[in-house]
Amino acid sequence: MTIRPIISYPQFEHILKDMAIAVQMVDPDLPQIVQDLKDTLLATANGVGLAAPQIGILKRIFVLRKDYIKDDLAEDSELLQAQAEVLVFINPKIVTRKGIVHEEEGCLSIPGTCVKIERAKVIKVRARDAHGEQFYEKFKGLAARAVQQEIDHLNGILIIDHHGGVKEC
Ligand SMILES: [Zn+2]
Repeated sequence: MTIRPIISYPQFEHILKDMAIAVQMVDPDLPQIVQDLKDTLLATANGVGLAAPQIGILKRIFVLRKDYIKDDLAEDSELLQAQAEVLVFINPKIVTRKGIVHEEEGCLSIPGTCVKIERAKVIKVRARDAHGEQFYEKFKGLAARAVQQEIDHLNGILIIDHHGGVKEC
C-alpha cells in the first residue's frame, strides 16, 4: 500500500499541464500505478476521482471512487457488479455526449478553489479495466462530471482552464 503525494497547481504546473501518453497493457509498471492511484484516492477526505498525472505519472489512467458515484451508473452496469471500491479506467475515451450542465467543481490538485464548468450531462465512455478488458459505460450526474474532469487531466487541462466563475470553496 502506497499513498503518493498529490501534486498541486501552481508548483507542479509543468506536469499537470502536460499531455499524458497512452498506456501499453504490457507496461510492467501498470499494476503498481493502478494500486497507488487506488490507495491515494481512498486516503483523501472526499476525492471522487484521481488521474495518474496528479501523482506525477503522465500516463492515461484514472480511478473513481465507486460509493460516491454508484447512483449515476446505469442499473445494469457491469461496473456496479464488480467487487471493487475503486473503478479503474485505462486509455479512456468519451464516445458520446448528450446535454449540457453547469456545475461547480473542485479538484484535489487545486485545493480551496471551485470553478463553475460547462460539461456534457450524459456521456458514454470506452476504456480498459485493470485487467485490460475493454468496457463501455454510461454516466450521468456527478460521475459524468468526474469522468470529464479526469480525462481533462490526461490532456493537461485543469478546472481553472475552463474560465468559469472561480471562487473559494
Ligand atoms: Zn482534478
